[in-house]
Amino acid sequence: MKKPDIKEIYNAMREAPKKKERELIEKAYSVAFEAHKPQKRSSGEPYFNHVFATAKNLAEYGLDATTIAAGFLHDTIEDTPVTEKEIQEQFGDEIVFLVNGVTKLGTLKYQGRKRHVESLRKFFIATAEDYRVVIIKLADRLHNVQTLEHVKPEKQKRIALETIEIYAPLAYRLGMGRMVGKLQDAAFPFAYPEESKMVDELMRQKKKLNEKYLEKVWRTLKAEMAEHKINDITTHQRVKGRYSLWKKLQRKNMDIEQMYDIVALRVIVPNIDDCYRVLGIIHSKWRPLPGRIKDYIALPKVNGYQSLHTTIFTGDGGIAEIQIRTQAMHDFAEYGFAAHHIYKAQSTDANVSERYSLHWLEQLKELQNLEEQKDFLKDFKTDLFEDRIFVFTPEGDVLDLPKDASAIDFAYTVHSEIGNQAQAAIINGKNSALKTILKSGDIVEIQTNKKGVPSAKWLKFAKTSIARKHIEKHAEDGIIARIFK
Ligand code: MN
Repeated sequence: MKKPDIKEIYNAMREAPKKKERELIEKAYSVAFEAHKPQKRSSGEPYFNHVFATAKNLAEYGLDATTIAAGFLHDTIEDTPVTEKEIQEQFGDEIVFLVNGVTKLGTLKYQGRKRHVESLRKFFIATAEDYRVVIIKLADRLHNVQTLEHVKPEKQKRIALETIEIYAPLAYRLGMGRMVGKLQDAAFPFAYPEESKMVDELMRQKKKLNEKYLEKVWRTLKAEMAEHKINDITTHQRVKGRYSLWKKLQRKNMDIEQMYDIVALRVIVPNIDDCYRVLGIIHSKWRPLPGRIKDYIALPKVNGYQSLHTTIFTGDGGIAEIQIRTQAMHDFAEYGFAAHHIYKAQSTDANVSERYSLHWLEQLKELQNLEEQKDFLKDFKTDLFEDRIFVFTPEGDVLDLPKDASAIDFAYTVHSEIGNQAQAAIINGKNSALKTILKSGDIVEIQTNKKGVPSAKWLKFAKTSIARKHIEKHAEDGIIARIFK
């Protein structure tokens, strides 16, 4: 059989790999190749092609040689005779840790609504130690969902839904815009075949016209910018993903006429100053649509996305969206959390655990704190994250609760005794009342009093059935006790 060319991996990497990195990747390549040799995928092609594609995705998303090597090996321990011990001996602790992390996640399966939230919670806990595990899993899933046509129909739908409901929101949280779009668009036709066909048809009708308007805008804009001595500009047209178009159509009552960004013009300039200058030039040349000028540079989106967006009347009956950003902002929008860490890794001498392990949940949390400031984020959140929040115990355990749950719900979810004896809460280090509504990322500690008893008043803000059940029981007992006193 023909071996995929390892040079494809090197070429996809941000920087040409050093000799040591090449050696590591090569070794992982050949160990994986031998281990998977007898196996075939359901398409009939060699199984190795899948691990190769996974490793290549990782290279494209800017991951380092260690992660790429783990990508090659991600299915060895579970699916081949190769043992954990062998991987450990040949590649060391770090790679074994990553491969084991990915294997653990592989056991999670989408089983309908209730279970998948639970799975997601486990997913978070299992991976909290190292974000590279999550990204390997995403790279693995991307190839699987892009080759779904070869899978049995009953499996197709489950994998497609799981991709849309769990993996894509996770990639979104990590700011990996390009990954989100690829996952959703590969899964869309299998998850929602009818809707997908409809969107394809709309796309066909609208895209050409949209592109025509943008062509003209770009020609004028290029001349204007040359006149203003703004150089080093790159532009491209970005076509909206089909699934995201579908979601937006639903929000706009299926009115395609309100969709101005099926194709948008992206302008990438050297620095932030230039971003605002270009916006100024655009607005002096074309009239912007009111309410559609978005300054995501000053106010980044929840996942760290930055850009200026504006929508203009093109003057010949058209309407077009333009997005302006720097190269760093662009890389972050496309590659997200990984890109963020690449920039960081280059600028400091952070050691391995500082760079990767860690605090990544904390950093994610920091990004999420931006959330409070903005309403418009609502539009971008997926259903999954809208229904549930994730909060942390001081030990770092994750609990998932329904939206609008209060500290008393948290107390009862930890343990019924803690709920019954709850006095107050410490939320993110601050003393807080039990009625305080929690939000994702909060770190919550409950203060208890051994003599404390539940109060019927708590029912006003208890949201979970477990909390309500306990409080009601105690309230009843109290009434009965008073009657017989
Ligand atoms: Mn795999």
